[in-house]
Amino acid sequence: MSRTCWSCDEEVGASLVCNACHKVQPPLDLNPFDRFEIPSHPSVDQGNLRKKYLEMQAALHPDRFVSKTKEEQLYAHQQSEAFNNAFVVLRDPTKCLESLLKGEKLPPDDPETLMEVMDLYDQIDSLSDKDDLCALEQKTSEKRALVLGICIKAFEETNKKILLQDFKKLQFFEKILITLKEKIHRLS
Ligand SMILES: [Zn+2]
Repeated sequence: MSRTCWSCDEEVGASLVCNACHKVQPPLDLNPFDRFEIPSHPSVDQGNLRKKYLEMQAALHPDRFVSKTKEEQLYAHQQSEAFNNAFVVLRDPTKCLESLLKGEKLPPDDPETLMEVMDLYDQIDSLSDKDDLCALEQKTSEKRALVLGICIKAFEETNKKILLQDFKKLQFFEKILITLKEKIHRLS
């Protein structure tokens, strides 16, 4: 891509910093994978991600910009925020899938999944013992991991039908887990 530096008009492309005047450039509208320059895949190498994130946060730290112009402070802040937001997504495989499937039309709910989901909510409603709820949370987490595995495999095999179907299931489990955590938290 072609873009020029806001300060000196040199070509900067997608670079964070201008090679000529070394000023930080405003953030581009990139998906989280492109922002961190990592492969577009739902399972992210977390060690590599963390390393890149820390490097970015060090390079963009406000302390480095106190004596700089208002524009540079603003762009460093905007870049830092953009990397933070991308980091939140890339740490979470469900959010990664959400980002990768952005704009895709999800299939209608299948009755079997809906029954399972309703059954789980009924169980949450009926349980009042913290240990029972924690056990259900554990079981639901395992199911989520299983569905996530199916999603990742379907993504790798570019089996879109299975991917979209199970991604929807994954979202159901994420919501159920939030409800469970909230109830467990209320009982603590
Ligand atoms: Zn420049």
